[in-house]
Amino acid sequence: MNAVAQYINNISETVSTVFEGLTVTFSHLVRRPITVQYPDRLAKQVQDTLPLRYRGILELDLDICTGCLGCIRACPISCIAIDIEMNKETKQRVFSSFDIDVCKCMYCGLCSEACPTGSLHHGQEFEGASVNPAGLVRHFVTDPVPLYKPKKGGETESKLITKVEIGKKYMDELASPEEGVESAEKK
Ligand code: SF4
Ligand code: SF4
Repeated sequence: MNAVAQYINNISETVSTVFEGLTVTFSHLVRRPITVQYPDRLAKQVQDTLPLRYRGILELDLDICTGCLGCIRACPISCIAIDIEMNKETKQRVFSSFDIDVCKCMYCGLCSEACPTGSLHHGQEFEGASVNPAGLVRHFVTDPVPLYKPKKGGETESKLITKVEIGKKYMDELASPEEGVESAEKK
């Protein structure tokens, strides 16, 4: 190919590739958009569509927390801080603070697996944005709360029976890694 033919060929290729690109661009003007403005225009909240084993932001039910500190020992990156004091009047041990740094948490689930009552568990919530990292530390204790003492033979206090059952169900069905493997094998 001589130089003139090569020159004309280059111009022709340039024009055709520009049109090819513009065809793709302009085709979007008549296509139905597949993006949505999150979260306003979703028919159903994303949280409601997540599987139960989803590891969202940690939740804690202090009413059934024994203060065993198993979660602190299990966490590989020290996200959890618990303070326990003795109430001199009631002679009861109470939580004076229970904080989880959601900013540091990597959602590995080790703390909830270690929790003997299911009081610490992952929820479906994942929206934790904050302009200040300190705002991502969840403080679960506002007033001192007594530690939970599991009763031999099962819980009898009516307001705790359901909580204990929910915690047990979480441990048996959702926190256990073996259960996850079994469910996957059944599919
Ligand atoms: S999920 Fe993992 S990283 Fe987060 S607090 Fe629990 S053990 Fe720590
Ligand atoms: S959340 Fe669970 S593991 Fe952590 S102190 Fe309470 S009972 Fe123990």
